Amino acid sequence: MSKVEAFLSQEEEQEIISAIRVAEKNTSGEIRVHIEATSEKNHDDRSLEVFHMLKMNNTKDENAVLIYVAVKDKKFVIYGDKGINEVVPDDFWNTTKDVMQNHFKLGDFKQGLVAGILKAGEELQEHFPWQIDDEDELSNEISKG
Ligand code: CA
Ligand code: CA
Repeated sequence: MSKVEAFLSQEEEQEIISAIRVAEKNTSGEIRVHIEATSEKNHDDRSLEVFHMLKMNNTKDENAVLIYVAVKDKKFVIYGDKGINEVVPDDFWNTTKDVMQNHFKLGDFKQGLVAGILKAGEELQEHFPWQIDDEDELSNEISKG
């Protein structure tokens, strides 16, 4: 078992994937989670790199969101594509960050991710409501680095 896989049990991973599915029922936005142990790069730079590595910049409305977590570094970044940034205020992700932070502080890593995903979905819903012709443009699986 790699270090990264040790952070989440199989069951917890499924709960996170389910949360993404639920969140994406309300919004056309696409949410992905990337987990790794640590990064030597600045976490903001690294999240951008992962965003492109996962080809998350290829959605129709440019409304994908990456939740990047470096578990050992105790850092996370929420990175949204430009379609989102064009229509939301700068502090748009603060409520989602707070929700995640509160769970992480209590040591509940899985619940932090689940709650963050659901919150991100709610926040996106207002600007990018789910549409009848919606496609699941990006995989809901967790990416591990
Ligand atoms: Ca979609
Ligand atoms: Ca998806």
